[in-house]
Formats: sequence, C-alpha cells, structure tokens
Amino acid sequence: MPDNLKPEDRIKTMRAVKAKNTGLERTVASMLAGMGLPGWRKHVRTLPGNPDIVFENHRLALFVDGCFWHGCTVCNRPLPKTNPEYWTRKIENNVRRAAKAKEELEQAGWVVLRIWEHELKDSASKSAVRFRIRQALKEVS
Ligand SMILES: [Zn+2]
Repeated sequence: MPDNLKPEDRIKTMRAVKAKNTGLERTVASMLAGMGLPGWRKHVRTLPGNPDIVFENHRLALFVDGCFWHGCTVCNRPLPKTNPEYWTRKIENNVRRAAKAKEELEQAGWVVLRIWEHELKDSASKSAVRFRIRQALKEVS
C-alpha cells in the first residue's frame, strides 16, 4: 500500500527521523562518557537489530528508540492525519523487528536494554537511565 506522501515529503520525513535518532544516540553516548564507562561502541552492524550502543565485553546491547517510531505506550504519540494506516503499519513493523532482535540477542546470551526518547527529556529520568545502565552492567559482569 502506497503512503500517498509526495516524494519530497517522504524524503523530508525520513531525514527528520534520521536526524532525530542521531540526536538521541548522541545524548546517550555523552551520558555514557559522563559516567566514565569504558568499552562501548556505537552502531554495531554485525548484531541482530543493529544495536545503537554495545558493551561488547559485558554482552550488553542498548537500543535508543524514538517514542513515535516504536509505538511508545507511555507517550502514545498521535499518528499523522494523512494516511494513518501507513504509519500504523510502519510502527508495527518497527515494534516487531525490535522484539525479534531482542529475542535473537538474548538467545545468543546478550542482555538488551531499551532506552526511550521520553527517558532522555529531563535530568531526573536521565539519572534513572544511568541507574538502569549501571545495574545492567553489574548483572552481566
Ligand atoms: Zn515515550
């Protein structure tokens, strides 16, 4: 089913998404740097789902997910008015792909941590994220 977006609009949307996700990853990367945690890498293409950040020695994989694109049930972002079916399907695919990647990683002995966009909004929820990362690293080390 086509999305009925004009090509230039689709490109604009995709660009905006890419920029947004790069921003989220950058936020998490600078948090990790601030925590003084060594041994992580960005964009590991060799693992299922291409985790955004990986602590290889600990076998801990982090995914940083945009609330709209991953159908966050906390934020419940409204769908665009144009072609809601297209967006619903796209989001469902993202959620399904993410679940499959998590399963594959866990089967291979990885611990998977998902960080939501809304958890990076203020300093209180950011410290909660820091805590979750430290806990996860403790559990797997
Ligand atoms: Zn959210």
